[in-house]
Amino acid sequence: MSDFSAYHSLGQPTGDPNDQRRQQPAAPQFRPPVAPGPAGYQQSGSPYMTSPAQVGTPGYGSQPQSPGYFGQPGFQQSPQPGQADVGGLASQMGGMGLGVETPGAARGHKKKDRHAYHNLEPQGSSQAFNGMPQGSVPPSQYLNQGPQQPGQFGQQFSPAMSQFPAAASAFTPMNPASPMEHAARGGDQLMGSPASSQQGRVDPEHIPSVPRSRDGPAQYYLEHVYPTMEQHLPPPAAVPFVAYDQGNSSPKFARLTLNNIPSSADALAATALPLGLVLQPLAPLQEGEQPIPVLNFGDAGPPRCRRCRTYINPFMTFRSGGNKFVCNMCTFPNDVPSEYFAPTDPSGVRVDRQQRPELTLGTVEFVVPKEYWSKEPVGLRWLFVLDVSAEAVNKGFLDGFCEGIMSALYGPPETPTEGDENGAKQRTLPEGAKIGIVTYDKELHFYNLSANLEQAQMLVMPDIEDPFVPLSEGLFVDPEESKVVIMSLLKQLPSMFANVKNPEPALLPTLNAALSALSSTGGKIVCSLSSLSTWGPGRLFLRDDGKMHGSDTERKLFTTEHPGWLKIANKMVECGVGVDFFLAAPSGGYLDVATIGYVSSKTGGEIFYYPTFHVQRDSLKLSKEIKHTVTRETGYQALMKVRCSNGLQVSAYHGNFTHHTFGADLEFGVVDADKSIAVLFSYDGKLDPKLDAHFQSALLYTSANGERRVRCTNTVASVSEGAMEAMKFIDQDAVINIISKEAAARMPEKALQDIRAALNEKTVDILAGYRKNFSGSHPPGQLVLPENLKEFSMYILCLLKSRAFKGGREPTDRRVHDARMIRSMGATELSLYLYPRIISIHNLEPTDGFPNENGHLRMPQCIRASFSKVEEGGAYLVDNGQVCLLWLHAQVSPNLLEDLFGAGRSSLKDLDPFTSALPVLETHLNAQARNMLQYLATTRGSKALTLQLARQGLDGAEYEFARLLVEDRNNEAQSYVDWLVHIHRQIQLEQAGRRKHEEGFDYGGMASTLAQLKMPHW
Ligand SMILES: [Zn+2]
Repeated sequence: MSDFSAYHSLGQPTGDPNDQRRQQPAAPQFRPPVAPGPAGYQQSGSPYMTSPAQVGTPGYGSQPQSPGYFGQPGFQQSPQPGQADVGGLASQMGGMGLGVETPGAARGHKKKDRHAYHNLEPQGSSQAFNGMPQGSVPPSQYLNQGPQQPGQFGQQFSPAMSQFPAAASAFTPMNPASPMEHAARGGDQLMGSPASSQQGRVDPEHIPSVPRSRDGPAQYYLEHVYPTMEQHLPPPAAVPFVAYDQGNSSPKFARLTLNNIPSSADALAATALPLGLVLQPLAPLQEGEQPIPVLNFGDAGPPRCRRCRTYINPFMTFRSGGNKFVCNMCTFPNDVPSEYFAPTDPSGVRVDRQQRPELTLGTVEFVVPKEYWSKEPVGLRWLFVLDVSAEAVNKGFLDGFCEGIMSALYGPPETPTEGDENGAKQRTLPEGAKIGIVTYDKELHFYNLSANLEQAQMLVMPDIEDPFVPLSEGLFVDPEESKVVIMSLLKQLPSMFANVKNPEPALLPTLNAALSALSSTGGKIVCSLSSLSTWGPGRLFLRDDGKMHGSDTERKLFTTEHPGWLKIANKMVECGVGVDFFLAAPSGGYLDVATIGYVSSKTGGEIFYYPTFHVQRDSLKLSKEIKHTVTRETGYQALMKVRCSNGLQVSAYHGNFTHHTFGADLEFGVVDADKSIAVLFSYDGKLDPKLDAHFQSALLYTSANGERRVRCTNTVASVSEGAMEAMKFIDQDAVINIISKEAAARMPEKALQDIRAALNEKTVDILAGYRKNFSGSHPPGQLVLPENLKEFSMYILCLLKSRAFKGGREPTDRRVHDARMIRSMGATELSLYLYPRIISIHNLEPTDGFPNENGHLRMPQCIRASFSKVEEGGAYLVDNGQVCLLWLHAQVSPNLLEDLFGAGRSSLKDLDPFTSALPVLETHLNAQARNMLQYLATTRGSKALTLQLARQGLDGAEYEFARLLVEDRNNEAQSYVDWLVHIHRQIQLEQAGRRKHEEGFDYGGMASTLAQLKMPHW
């Protein structure tokens, strides 16, 4: 053993992290926002629960149960901990019908019924398919062991313990299941163990459930923190949690696919899993979490390894009495600079360690001196670029966009931000940040917003062939100093252009002018567009005529070769400029998102896309999303570098950025809290199982308040011989995120069906690899899933059904948009995007949606995304982090509607189809629903939560609802059950050595391209 492994050589064991008797630090400050309860309203008992109209059906309507309909005589429990034994899945299925019409009772839905969400009729026994009642898992199983321990948070990390919180034993736990995992299992003997029914059919109730895998941990982490060194399996990405940084970065910033790494490439290959890191360097923190410290080492800058340039971090060790520090990446013994010297104690730990965040925390930020600058850092310049052409005016998008900017900068109109008693203004943007406004149709208009003007001065730039910026003063102003001028301009813009109405916008010349306005400082462009940019240089045309669908040339529509657009993306990154687009296609028209979006994807920006913008319904979302864009943590002119221990090397990056040559830094014009990057690693040697593997990502950027900083994120994993240990520490969300990003990256090169086939292959490779190498002895007919990849195949099926990859027709604008989004989505946002949260609100417990005794919001359990779970008369919130639908069954109770929407709204037809939020009413149900929506709004990505109605038989959004029921057969792909059967069959073929040779299913004839598609880094 060598002394440079901080992890092995330092610290005191803190005991078994899974020991329930151990005091868990509570998260006393984590309080999901809760709307005030209705005044004077009785919480217990809800009028509609006993409504005469509902007699006979508890709640608003539940399905009759048929207990015993799926008796499970052959049911097998998981024979070994750590494995979900999908006992006998399809082993008795004879010829394995693969979902062809079999009159089996379990699939008693006729084929048409599986699509028949429009005409749900009262169904008898066929609905018993949904046998398990809502909430059948006793909630007590999710209750936390032991009372909450307020005040333990400080005590927990006493100096003795935090000497170095990393216990050497912690990475080789005896018991791999964390309390959270136990919570996820729910103690239900059925968990993750599908069995065949008497009819030899797979029982859909017993296949691994994504909602359950989230609900248990969500309960657990309401009352517990996640200590980053003591526990090695992060919470599921869709679950809110408070992390306590013990030297290893919070999973919010970095998730490793394998938290225990096999020592050799061969051992990794046996798992077929990617070794990679999902980074979200500026991820938002949650209430109760410590802010990231900003450290300033003056002109010397932060200490770094002289050989490999790794930044100082908790895993570097000090020796020679504190005169040397040994790099945890390359083992080089560096001299400690005199100004950084501190002596070490007898155990080799610096005496000032506890006072040094860079030696105790996994995530810190350094302010860096001039040598890290490429230009003088200034506060972030925001340039709002507004489309004022005819379509934008006509459809109200301009109006909505102006309102959105005002609301983002100064608060919503009804609650103008007031100065406090001292007259200090509450600023949306930090001190030093400035804004500018440009409008365009086929001409460009700049505005002087100087505070000393009575109103903004417009300067027209008619020469779009060679545009320049016609003013040097007053283009960028302090939004508070110039508030009057800015407000008056934004209020006037819609009427100013109401009479002009140029039909054709000239986007590329406008972006070129915007770039020249920002080229000396860098900054961020927020640009609206509502029709195809058909004017001037770089004009676009209708490339997607619908005829290339399914052809080889289709993928050309997913990217751009236009030199003007390629060039501007490059120049923007060079200048430290990035773009977020707000795109509205009011009649669902083509915008060439592939070309426009190329600029935002290369510069680290984002697209907010409203494919069927309706001003009344979507203005709230637009406004909230502009506000989010402006207020989320944003940096610009960024470079990123990822370093890792000797023996490993970076093999690929995936995300939205510019990367000129392999080995060079990643470049971003802008980077923000929601963006994530995947990094893949390969071996360049064998790792020593006695040591740990280390990873450090360093993001060099200029913060919105004008400081040049480096955000360092340090991650550690243990190493073991072989891959058996690794299988216990798989982070499913990281695996899915990396596979999704890599698949999205292939879209411009590979045909969609090849990508789908590769995803299919990858799923089989991983699960067959496990079956062959790690699953112990099971009867050959069983599908055995690794405990930590139980829901993996469901998520991959969701990916196959996503707009990016689904079969069948899909407008290329939407495909490209979703694919680019996947490439930059963090783990939370992607998890929700793939598998939505569905909450039934017609049968809530009276206490649901209100705080419990600890002030934590009580959330009901989510239901599976399947129409078989939908109850007659039901009402459901369906949230995939992008849209949130309120689906209402045709026979929903009038009482429920009135409770939710107010008196007089007792039928579906009484509701305003363009509703985007619930009214504030003093009814129990209304308060519950609003509280739950606020909760959902806190855990998602960059998209705002507003409501969209999907009334059965009335609203177009019903199609979206059907699309989101990902466990059903839809989106040109199989049901979850059929998919598992299909995967299982291929695993069996693999085991028998016959895979691929006789598989004609789905991807026949593709075998030759599969080899090319096989990503070398997977
Ligand atoms: Zn080094």
